[in-house]
Order: sequence, then C-alpha cells, then structure tokens
Amino acid sequence: MIETHAISRTYKMGNQTVNALQSISISINKGEYVAFMGPSGSGKSTLMNIVGCLDTPTSGTYMLNNKLVSEMTENELADTRNKEIGFVFQTFNLLPRASALENVALPLIYAGYSKSEREDMAMQALENVSLADRYHHKPNELSGGQRQRVAIARALVNNPSIILADEPTGNLDTKTSYDIMNLFQELHDKGNTIIMVTHEDDIAHYAHRIIRLRDGLIEWDRKNDNVNRAK
Ligand code: ADP
Ligand code: ADP
Repeated sequence: MIETHAISRTYKMGNQTVNALQSISISINKGEYVAFMGPSGSGKSTLMNIVGCLDTPTSGTYMLNNKLVSEMTENELADTRNKEIGFVFQTFNLLPRASALENVALPLIYAGYSKSEREDMAMQALENVSLADRYHHKPNELSGGQRQRVAIARALVNNPSIILADEPTGNLDTKTSYDIMNLFQELHDKGNTIIMVTHEDDIAHYAHRIIRLRDGLIEWDRKNDNVNRAK
C-alpha cells in the first residue's frame, strides 16, 4: 500500500542544507498499525507529511496504492489527500462554530456527496466513535477526548485507505489518551490502516509495529511484541 524507495528530503536555509530524511525505504501493508517514533527533529513530521501527500521528497520515489506520488501535480496530490488519507491532529483542528455532525461531514462536501448523504455518512462515522448522541454539540461543548473522537470520525468518514495521526494524544490527559488508544485498537481490529506519529514511547507501544527515526535515518523498524492494552 505504502512503498517509499530511498526518499530524502532536504531543506535549504540560506547556504545551509538540512537533511531531514536520508534515503528512507519503508513498506507498509494494508491493515498495519504503525508508529513513527523518535526524538524531536528526527524527521517524523517530514516523513508523515510525505506519506500524507502534503509534501514531496527531494529524491527517491513514493508509491501509494500503486500510484507514483512523487510525480503528481498539486491537483492530483490534493485529490489523493482527500480520497486516500484521513488526518488526525494533536490540536483536533475542528471548526469552532460548526456542530460535531457538520465537522465530520466536511470532507464529504469536497467529495461531492449530497447534503442528506453527507448527514447519513457523518452520523454513521460518529456512531463508529460512540459519539452519535453528541452530534449537535459544538467543539466547546465537548471534552478534549470527545473533540478528538469527532476529529477521528471526520478522518474516517470518507473511508480512506490510511489514517494518519500526528501526536493524537498530545493534548489529552493520561486517562483520555488511553480511551483514544482503545479506539485506535478497535479501528485496527476492523481492518483500518493506521500510522501514528509520536515522541512518546508509551503511546508508540500501542502500535503493532514501531519505526524509530533518528537524525533522518531509520534507527530500527520492528514488530512490537508487547502491544500496550489500555485499561
Ligand atoms: P520531528 O517531527 O521528528 O520533530 P521534523 O521532521 O519536523 O522532525 O524535522 C526534521 C529536521 O528537519 C529538523 O532538523 C528540522 O529542524 C528540519 N526542518 C523541518 N521542517 C523544516 C523547514 N520547513 N525548514 C527547514 N528545516 C526544517
Ligand atoms: P505540526 O505537527 O508541525 O505542528 P500539524 O500537524 O498541525 O503540524 O500539520 C502538519 C501539516 O499538515 C502542516 O503543513 C499543515 O499546514 C498541514 N495540514 C493541516 N491540516 C490539513 C488538512 N486538513 N489537509 C491538508 N493539510 C493539512
């Protein structure tokens, strides 16, 4: 599903060059639950942005669902992001004046569904995160964990091939973080492909495979034999 071959990303700042990623080759299959882990500055965001089609590598190739992303135009990239990827952010990124249902339905406008189709699909997505009873609430009427569940429902609503979660528990307390990790485990059990970016070792260990980055390189990439189970 995801195949990167020797991708590098350099940033030029004045006459300095930063090698944010150096010749990264990874392969992620449908249904995997992977964490990109590593200290600040190790290249996690850069790798996630490339995998999420928000950025393109300076060299190397990236194939998503057998399509060469590295050579797509801006329009093709935008289209791929909308159809193939569900984004979840640390800061939730919800529209404050819109209800939970309207927030979840947002990606469906771009996809061209009618209003009633959007409402049905958004309601179903809210049910999948056990939040259907809060559909009319605005973000400020919901707890942090509930807001993140709305954001996860929005990520799921288009039935993307991959869920990309950037520090999804970064703004949540420990108990609420466990609830969100439980939800990810459920989504994984249902066959969703999940990639989570985290600098927290404890959170990374909820994933079934951990890819650890350091200085733009893969330090190690292994199956997690001790998957955390939230209580
Ligand atoms: P992480 O997400 O692990 O903290 P990043 O991918 O954000 O790491 O950063 C990797 C390296 O690339 C760091 O040295 C960072 O300073 C550099 N970097 C990231 N984005 C930019 C940018 N837009 N311009 C210049 N350097 C950048
Ligand atoms: P960081 O992890 O560096 O704090 P974010 O996780 O907020 O940054 O966002 C990562 C990148 O994704 C940013 O370049 C941002 O502009 C972009 N982005 C945020 N939301 C979306 C979206 N819904 N669709 C496409 N790109 C987005």
